[in-house]
Amino acid sequence: MNQQFYAFLDTAKKTAKEARHAASSMGYLAKKEAGKAAAAAQLNVQILSKKREIQEAYQELGRTLYDKHIGNDTESDTLMEKLQALDALHLEVAELEKQSGKVSVVRTCPTCGAERRPGDAYCPECGEKFNADAANA
Ligand SMILES: [Zn+2]
Repeated sequence: MNQQFYAFLDTAKKTAKEARHAASSMGYLAKKEAGKAAAAAQLNVQILSKKREIQEAYQELGRTLYDKHIGNDTESDTLMEKLQALDALHLEVAELEKQSGKVSVVRTCPTCGAERRPGDAYCPECGEKFNADAANA
């Protein structure tokens, strides 16, 4: 067998390997994308339901205030409890919205395009070494 033939075999092997790698990366990315979309959708549902709770809490607070106004005495503790519950709900929504913002930020490997997680020193797909500052950014 001549050298050209070996060169051809080598190229063929390499191409097959690259094709396999590309296919597996694409499957991996598609799965990752689907997972991310599901996580984002789930977060959005949570945010919406929390916002609905906030609307209900506002209504209840308004009713309590009005009751006080018309002389149905409401204890100050009750009002404070409702206000604190609203504070907590607002915090929860802010936290969920922060998470949902993070979900949509995708960092990828410059070599194969696989998603990288913060703290990854190497690409989980192709083994590319990431520089430390970029991995932590
Ligand atoms: Zn990679």
